Amino acid sequence: MDARILDQFRSIIGRGLITEPSQLHTYECDGLTNFRVMPQAVLLPSSTDQVQQIVRVCNREKIPFVARGSGTGLSGGALPAENGIVISLARMNRILEVDLPNARVVVEPGVINAEVTQRVAPHGYFYAPDPSSQSVCSIGGNVAENSGGAHCLKYGFTTTHVLALEVVLADGSLLHLGSRALDRPGYDLPGIFVGSEGTLGIATKIVLRIVKRPEVIQTLLAAFNSTNEAGAAVSEIIAAGMLPAAIEMMDNLSIQAAEASVHAGYPSCGGLLLVELDGPAAEVEHLIKEVGEICTQCGAWEIRVAQSEAERAVVWKGRKAAFAAMGRISPNYIVQDGVIPRTALPKVMSEIDRMSAAEGLRVANVFHAGEGNLHPHVLYDGSIPGQTERAMALSINIPRLCVKCERSVTGDHGVGEEKKMMMSEMFAEPDLETMQLVRCAFDPQHLSNPGKIFPRTRLCAERTGPYQPHALEVAGVAQFF
Ligand SMILES: Cc1cc2nc3c(=O)[nH]c(=O)nc-3n(C[C@H](O)[C@H](O)[C@H](O)COP(=O)(O)OP(=O)(O)OC[C@H]3O[C@@H](n4cnc5c(N)ncnc54)[C@H](O)[C@@H]3O)c2cc1C
Repeated sequence: MDARILDQFRSIIGRGLITEPSQLHTYECDGLTNFRVMPQAVLLPSSTDQVQQIVRVCNREKIPFVARGSGTGLSGGALPAENGIVISLARMNRILEVDLPNARVVVEPGVINAEVTQRVAPHGYFYAPDPSSQSVCSIGGNVAENSGGAHCLKYGFTTTHVLALEVVLADGSLLHLGSRALDRPGYDLPGIFVGSEGTLGIATKIVLRIVKRPEVIQTLLAAFNSTNEAGAAVSEIIAAGMLPAAIEMMDNLSIQAAEASVHAGYPSCGGLLLVELDGPAAEVEHLIKEVGEICTQCGAWEIRVAQSEAERAVVWKGRKAAFAAMGRISPNYIVQDGVIPRTALPKVMSEIDRMSAAEGLRVANVFHAGEGNLHPHVLYDGSIPGQTERAMALSINIPRLCVKCERSVTGDHGVGEEKKMMMSEMFAEPDLETMQLVRCAFDPQHLSNPGKIFPRTRLCAERTGPYQPHALEVAGVAQFF
């Protein structure tokens, strides 16, 4: 990078500037390691003012920038832009305010998800969105990805819990979106920002809603011979009018991986359900029996209810470690993410089995079963010629399958770099066009995380209006993404 520009960055941030190639390697990818780009520099600001100054230089010099939290994203969202810089928010990691009477917490973006609950738990509160990566991922990353977790079935995704945001736009100006009130006049701009994957600007302060801990929490484990039987139980539980805090499912390969890693004591079975109920004691006691009966009717041959907080913690440790634990049973793996209707589970599982057999690769399945959010893990050995390519081909066909089932290419991991080409399979041209216009309103020069989410760049000066197909497309020679 031009020494003149580096000097400008250095004068803003001093020692928080990284340019050493050996150190830059840390930032060349996120949790999706198949995509790598070396950034020109990494900057670690410790205040909103520094973020603004850095972004102003980028704006003046036309340098693309990518915000980065903890780098645990699984869709390449924090992948650096070619010839761009990375702005890491890791040093902006303070909890600024805890307002218990109003159940609000104000944080900087680098605060780790689990730290919010740790701070408010002694007062009987928790922060509900709980991605399995919650011990390391940042609130800024959660906001950008609209992250979810096991307990989002009942409590909602990140977007339900973000009330207001302070945002640095790509020209360096400061914007305040939303308010501490639950309803506010005007457009739902925090709703637009949450899930925008760093393409609308950088969140530098976030007002979160926290939730009172319920009187009782009970967790039930049910072992089935297959994921189809377990899936039928999920449909029956929901059909009975219950809204459990969480319904998670693991197949046999995932159980093997979790057991090898954390020894959660799971039964060895084809499909394992974890159902958590919370609320007033009398209600939970009644409903947990009903859930047990439904599971038995659907073929469960072992039902266990965690008898203590410690037992409950171990049950969840196994589930939350499942992603990382895949390394115990396979040298390499790709985590996929897609949403299907719960009722399509048998059909989709047998199709994934067919694709897995055709490629000769194993697929382990962990689901947020209540939401129909699949997380298939394609297992492979990158040292065997051809396996990486086969794994990538198999992996990308899974979200394609989800679109065919009229749901989504992503549940909670985002589009990022990985799935941008699939957006045109899911959305019609006017839908994508409207999203692009929103993007242009926030960042007309496309400097903030360029090249993500959308299959192609829209120039903000382009005329709006109905899409006119190119002659080659009409002739069936070319495809428009
Ligand atoms: C083992 C494992 C388990 C996981 N489990 C889950 C899960 O259960 N649910 C789930 O939803 N995800 C899960 N993930 C994915 C990942 O943890 C989440 O997407 C998380 O929200 C990313 O946070 P991060 O701080 O690591 O963000 P990063 O990976 O650093 O960045 C993610 C995106 O956010 C943008 N960004 C970061 N900070 C800001 C900011 N301040 N302002 C604007 N944009 C910003 C980046 O540009 C990028 O586009 C898992 C990942 C792993 C490795």
